Amino acid sequence: MVLRGHEQGYQQRGREAHRSTRDSKKAPYEFHFSLLIPEIANLAAARTVGFYCESERGGRVRFNNAKQRLADFCQDEPATFILELHTPCSVLTMNVLVINSGSSSLKFQVISTDLERIKQFKDGRLCRGEVEGIGGEAIITFKNRQAESQKFTAPLRDVSAALDYLVRFIASDRSGVTEIKNTTDVNAVGHRVVHGGERFSESALIDDKVLQGIEYCIDLAPLHNPNNIKGILAARELFGRTVPQVAVFDTAFHHSIPEQAYLYAVPYHLYRRHRIRRYGFHGTSHRYVAFRYRALRGLTREQTNIISLHLGNGCSAAAIRGGSPVDTSMGMTPLEGLVMGTRCGDLDPAIVNVIARKEGMSASEVDTLLNTQSGLLGISGLTNDMRELQAELKEHEDRRVRLAIAIFCYRARKYIGAYLACMGGADAVVFTGGIGENSPDIRAQICEGMEWAGLKLDPSGNQETVAREGKISAEGSSLLAYAIPTDEELLIARDTVRVILGEPHPS
Ligand code: ADP
Repeated sequence: MVLRGHEQGYQQRGREAHRSTRDSKKAPYEFHFSLLIPEIANLAAARTVGFYCESERGGRVRFNNAKQRLADFCQDEPATFILELHTPCSVLTMNVLVINSGSSSLKFQVISTDLERIKQFKDGRLCRGEVEGIGGEAIITFKNRQAESQKFTAPLRDVSAALDYLVRFIASDRSGVTEIKNTTDVNAVGHRVVHGGERFSESALIDDKVLQGIEYCIDLAPLHNPNNIKGILAARELFGRTVPQVAVFDTAFHHSIPEQAYLYAVPYHLYRRHRIRRYGFHGTSHRYVAFRYRALRGLTREQTNIISLHLGNGCSAAAIRGGSPVDTSMGMTPLEGLVMGTRCGDLDPAIVNVIARKEGMSASEVDTLLNTQSGLLGISGLTNDMRELQAELKEHEDRRVRLAIAIFCYRARKYIGAYLACMGGADAVVFTGGIGENSPDIRAQICEGMEWAGLKLDPSGNQETVAREGKISAEGSSLLAYAIPTDEELLIARDTVRVILGEPHPS
């Protein structure tokens, strides 16, 4: 039996909320049916849920639950399935497990939120942590809401085992997470997915078609998407198809970038054949800080004109005009753009061939060198960690450490200048990421000599704004500067709730 139609979403009517799902002809009805019942059953409104089914032949029948009865009623004919909730869906709180699945690690958070809490910025973070060293004796770092930390090990052979172990731990008394007593207390899963290619311009409810789409993008992110898929399949295995999962793409925010900024000047057929173009990454982070910036300043989305600098281990800049990116520094892969912990960023492409020839390396070995042994690490010869470099510089005045930091800051300043030109000026530069949020010295070094553009930092404001939101530019500066800690997991949890509830995609 197949459901048909296109509509999917909640509508609120007074104090009632209705959800109707009419699936496309291709999707078997079992998917949505099994998706929706536990979704609702998990929620506080379960007792007041009503199910309706409208058949093509006419007629409307109310069900309380049984799948069989729905099947009997529809008799293999297309039908519309309607769920009715007697609770405003804006207050249906979900415990969302947010997952970032890497090659041997799994970063996670559980965030409890609903549409009302999102509006009031009152989402609850129940726990967070990371499983590292999956495939052997893994190390689990765990922090609950009371900020009690635990670190322990367990033999975990793969992502599935890691997720299973993790969720059981969260549900146990040892975790101190009182809201989750059972795996069924996890109502939804949100996944960070690195590459959505040209297919995904916004977060998506994961069904087989979306999963195929993510698989299709493996070509574009061979190191990342396969791990993200493993995370999705592991969650499916653990929770079944009954717990809705949402994919939030690192590339999606950059979909607004115009052709002139995303196309490389290589033969056009390479774009047509292989989709060789700029995609950009860190989209969830840039989107989050753009949103916080406008909330701090009381602006609308359209009034948001910023250059956002995500400076972490990976680094990228985004030129955001009218709330949407018009350019970004990472390219087809995350290698392009700013200097990063271990990545070189911008480079004369002919150098790849030169290194290969002179060092007797293959193209993929050079690629690895540029991704993993370059950047701050490559120049300093010491570490990719900015904090360690700064400590080293203080202690030993190391020339190459100084150089690594100088190149890092110079490149970032160059991008600010370029983006000011691209955007026709901006209102603010926003710093985020581990370095951008925590290092006043690096921020100051990047902004050095930018008075010509109206950017002058307030020395004490800059020094004091560490790991918190705040304005760091001096009074009278016409190009403002802000530091805003990013929170990609929060945005993933919020998107997960909004996508499941069929809320319009937020900016
Ligand atoms: P990732 O990109 O892996 O998420 P982060 O955003 O956590 O990384 O950023 C990691 C970088 O931030 C490291 O280079 C680290 O040294 C740097 N960092 C963190 N805290 C500070 C600090 N107080 N001062 C300078 N650098 C810092």
